[in-house]
Amino acid sequence: MKKHNFSAGPCILPHSVFKEASAAVLDFNNSGLSILEISHRSKDFVNVMEEARSLVLDLLQLKNKGYQALFLHGGASTQFLSVAYNLLEKKAAYLNTGTWSSKAIKEAKMFGEIVEVGSFKDKSFSYIPKKYSIDRSYDYFHCTSNNTIYGTQIKKFPQIEIPLVCDMSSDIFSRQLDFSQFDLIYAGAQKNMGPAGTTLVVVKESILGKVTRKIPSLLNYQIQIEKESMFNTPAVYAVYVSLLNLRWLQSLGGIKAIEEINEKKAQLFYSEIDINPLFKGYAAKEDRSTMNATFNLEDNKLEPLFNQLLEEANINGLNGHRSVGGYRASMYNALPLSSVETLVEVMSELERKA
Ligand code: PLP
Repeated sequence: MKKHNFSAGPCILPHSVFKEASAAVLDFNNSGLSILEISHRSKDFVNVMEEARSLVLDLLQLKNKGYQALFLHGGASTQFLSVAYNLLEKKAAYLNTGTWSSKAIKEAKMFGEIVEVGSFKDKSFSYIPKKYSIDRSYDYFHCTSNNTIYGTQIKKFPQIEIPLVCDMSSDIFSRQLDFSQFDLIYAGAQKNMGPAGTTLVVVKESILGKVTRKIPSLLNYQIQIEKESMFNTPAVYAVYVSLLNLRWLQSLGGIKAIEEINEKKAQLFYSEIDINPLFKGYAAKEDRSTMNATFNLEDNKLEPLFNQLLEEANINGLNGHRSVGGYRASMYNALPLSSVETLVEVMSELERKA
C-alpha cells in the first residue's frame, strides 16, 4: 500500500508520473533506448527540453512577456550565488524570513552590500514581517515565498520599482499569483516540480546585462538563455520527469485547479489544529503556509502514542525539520486530499485516546 507521504521532499510527485517516468528508463518513446542513454543533443531530448521550458511559461502565464525559463544545475542554493553574480552591482535588499533566506543573504554578501529589511530573528521566524520600505537605491529585492522549515508563506508581495527576485522552491506551481510582478523566480525542482537535480529559473531578459563584473559562463543567465539550458549536459532525467509532472498539472486544469485542492487540504488541516486542544500551530495564522504546516504537541508525553497512531495509519514524513523539531505536514501538489483526511482522523483519535 502506498504511504500517505507528508515528507518535505525531495521529490513528491503523483504515482502516475512515477509510473510513466519509470517506463522511460527502459524504453523512451518506443526508441529502443533509455531516456538515460539518448543523446541530450538528439531531437527527442531537445523536444523534451523545449516543451518543458514552454510549459513552465504557459502555466505561469508568462508567455510572450519577455521571460525565459531555464533548467539549470546546482539546486536553489547555487541560485543564491547566481542571482547576486548577475544582478548585484552595489546594494540589494533581502527579506530574511528564515533559514533559506539567511543562506541566500550569506552568499550575496560576497558581491556587495546586503541590507536586511524587516528582519525579526527574535520571533523565531514564526511570521512574515510586513512593515518595510524599499527604495530605488537597491539593485533588487529578494524574498523567499514559502519558508519550508518554519511553515510561513508570503501572501502579498510588495509593489516596488526595482527587480523583484523570489525563491519559490517550496511553493512554485501551488497557487495563483500574478507572476509578471516578479523579475526573477527560482526553484529547486524537488518539491512541486520534479526530482532533485535540476533547478528552474524564470527570468525577465530585460533585467540582465547590467552588472560590470565578469560572470562565469555556467552561472551567466544570458549564456544559459543563448544555449537554451544546454551550456553543458543538462540533468536529462530530472528535466524529463519535471516535464511529465508539468503535463499532469496542465491536464488537471493548471495552477487554478491545484490551488483549489491545496486550499482545501490546508483548511482541513489547520481547522483541526485550531479545534484540537492537544496541538498548537507554529506559524502566525495569517502567514500559515499551504505547503508546509508546522505544529507541536502541547504535551510531549503524548509523542509515543501519536507516533504509533501515525505509523498504524501508514503516514510518513511528519517530523519537523531537524533544526526546529516538532512536526511538519508538507502538503505539496501531489499529496491527495484523502491523505490529509487520514491525518486529521489520527489527530482526533489521539484526542479521544489521550
Ligand atoms: N530554498 C528553499 C525555500 C528551500 O526549501 C530549499 C530546500 O529545501 C532550498 C532553497 C535549497 O534548495 P537546494 O537543496 O535545491 O539547494
